[in-house]
Amino acid sequence: MKRVALITGGTRGIGFGIATQLAKEGFDLAVNGTRPEEAVQSTIDELKALGAAVLYCRGSIAAATDRKNMIERVRKHYGALHVLVNNAGIAPRERRDILEATEESYDEVMSTNLKGCYFLTQQAANWMIAQKQSDAGFTGCIINVSSISATVASVNRGEYCLSKAGLSMATQLFAVRLGEFNIPVYEVRPGIIRTDMTAGVTEKYDKLIADGLCIQQRWGEPADVGKVVASLANGQFMYSTGQVIMVDGGLTVPRL
Ligand code: NAD
Repeated sequence: MKRVALITGGTRGIGFGIATQLAKEGFDLAVNGTRPEEAVQSTIDELKALGAAVLYCRGSIAAATDRKNMIERVRKHYGALHVLVNNAGIAPRERRDILEATEESYDEVMSTNLKGCYFLTQQAANWMIAQKQSDAGFTGCIINVSSISATVASVNRGEYCLSKAGLSMATQLFAVRLGEFNIPVYEVRPGIIRTDMTAGVTEKYDKLIADGLCIQQRWGEPADVGKVVASLANGQFMYSTGQVIMVDGGLTVPRL
């Protein structure tokens, strides 16, 4: 039987880059998203064409019942889950200075980017522990897609930075808790990646990249993140639990 990966927000952008790479590398997929199935059918077909079985699990990771249903659907359909990729995330609807930003935006961003990932991880982790206990040969892992915003302060999206800093600690917490079961937990930290999320700020980042913001003078692509996640999922980093893997073209390397 193929190994099964659940990718939240896996129908576009970085999540789709991850799903594509995992499909290419022989995983069966459960892909979560908020859009109706008809709206993502062509995306699902693209993944199937790569040889993967694909289950679409519609639902919001911010909602407890949706998280529960998502895991139940995977359980019913595949009977196993080896890899959880917490990729779904949102930017604030409106970038606002932290002296003016609203509690509504804070709650929305935190409940998706942090609370949703944290409690989905809790559910998946319990299931992975049960799988490990019934089959010593089970190999699972959890991969959180955070952001350079976990450490780089942007005062016009403070809630996003806080959510990613929190996700970074969640990675360490679950790495510690799941250590005894040999289920590694990793954080993948992208820099500036070309997706719908960054489409509205293309010109700004084009200029910053041309001016040397990153050591590698180009945008990151979803495939750059997908290849890193696939290496982790494939067990190439089994003795590196709790670690952060940067995918930022060197943006965060301090320079003088
Ligand atoms: P995107 O907006 O293109 O895609 C995000 C996906 O997540 C979408 O499919 C969306 O429908 C889904 N999603 C959003 N809220 C959801 C919810 N509540 N439940 C289920 N699915 C939900 O964004 P992206 O750029 O591909 O970002 C993916 C992840 O990478 C996010 O966590 C983001 O914070 C992170 N990231 C992106 C960049 C970048 O430059 N694009 C950089 C660093 C980190």
